[in-house]
Amino acid sequence: MAIARDGREEAVLERIEAFRRRRPRLNDEVVTLAHGAGGKASAALVDAVFLDAFANDELGALADAATLTVPGGDRLAFSTDSFVVQPRFFPGGSIGHLAVHGTVNDLAMVGARPQWLSAAFVLEEGFPMTELRDIVADMAAAATDAGVAIVAGDTKVVNRGAADGMYITTAGVGVIPERRRLGPDMVQPGDVVLVSGTIADHGMAVMLARGDLALEADIRSDTAPLGRLVDDLLAAAPGTRWLRDPTRGGVGTVCNELALATGLAVVLDETKLPVAPAVNGACDLLGIDPLYVANEGKLVAVVAPDEVDAALGALRAHPLGRAAAIIGEIHADPPRLVVLLTTFGGTRIVDMLVGDPLPRIC
Ligand code: MG
Repeated sequence: MAIARDGREEAVLERIEAFRRRRPRLNDEVVTLAHGAGGKASAALVDAVFLDAFANDELGALADAATLTVPGGDRLAFSTDSFVVQPRFFPGGSIGHLAVHGTVNDLAMVGARPQWLSAAFVLEEGFPMTELRDIVADMAAAATDAGVAIVAGDTKVVNRGAADGMYITTAGVGVIPERRRLGPDMVQPGDVVLVSGTIADHGMAVMLARGDLALEADIRSDTAPLGRLVDDLLAAAPGTRWLRDPTRGGVGTVCNELALATGLAVVLDETKLPVAPAVNGACDLLGIDPLYVANEGKLVAVVAPDEVDAALGALRAHPLGRAAAIIGEIHADPPRLVVLLTTFGGTRIVDMLVGDPLPRIC
C-alpha cells in the first residue's frame, strides 16, 4: 500500500483490512459471471485487483460514491456505473432509466444532491437507430425527473456481435450539503435498520422479462431516483448514520458490507422484510432468496433509535417510500455478521451473495 499513514488513512487501512478479513482470496484464473454479481466474488476481485493498484483513501472507503473535498472545503460525491442489462426494456423501465438512476442513487447514498452526469455508449454495428432514440429519450426523462443534467458523453461503435447491442456507462457528480455526515463509523449498537419499500422487485422483473422461464407475474422494476427521498429522510432524521442502495447482491449483501465496515452485527427480522406477494411467489418457485435480489429504487438506512419514528414517517410520506419498514437492529455481537431471525422462530447467518443467480440484471 503506497499511501502514507496519518490517523485518517490508518482508519481507512483498517477498514480495508476489515473488508478483507472475511473475503475469500481471488483464486480464479479467469473472470467469471460471479465477479460481476456484486457479492462475494466481486468483493474478492475488488480487493485483489483494484484496491491495491489504485490505493487511496477515497476508494478505500468502499462507499457507493467517493467523497471528495475540494480546495474551498466543499464536498463533492463522484461515482460511476456500467449498464449491461438484458433485456434492455422490461416492465417498469429500460437500460436508459437504469443508467441514470443507478448513478444518481449512488451519489444520493453518500448524502449528495446529484447534479451532473456523463454518459458513454458502446454501440454495436447494426443497432437500430429507433431503439437508440427510445433509450436516450428514457435517459433524458429520467435525468429531468432526478434533477440532473447529462453534460458530457462519448460514443464508440464496435463490430457486429462484439457488444450484445449496447452498453452504457454513466458517471456522476453531486454536491454534499454542509453538515451532512454519513458513514459506517457513525453506526452504533441499538441503531435501527430501515428499508424504504418492497425488496427484490427489479431483479425479478428483469428475470421474468427474459421470458425463458415458464412463469408470468405482474412484477415491475422499482427503478427510480432516490435523491429527494434522501433529502426528506435527512431533514426529518438528521442523525441518520448510513445509507446504501441494495442493487446487485440485494439487501443481504449490503447488510454484510455494513457489518464488515462497522465491526458490528446486523440482526434482521425475516417477518418484517417487505416483499410483494407476486415477487415472493416468483422467488419461491425459482428457489431464489429475495434478500439477494437486486433493487434499483430502494435504500437501506441505519438511523438513531430516537429518530426512528421521524425517519419512517418521512419515508412513508414520499411516493417512493410508502412501504418503508423497520427490518432490523444493530447489535454488538456477533461482530461482523448478519443474523436473520427467521419466520419459523430460528436464526441463521446471512452471508454475502455467492455465485450469480441473475447475471446482467443492471
Ligand atoms: Mg450502490
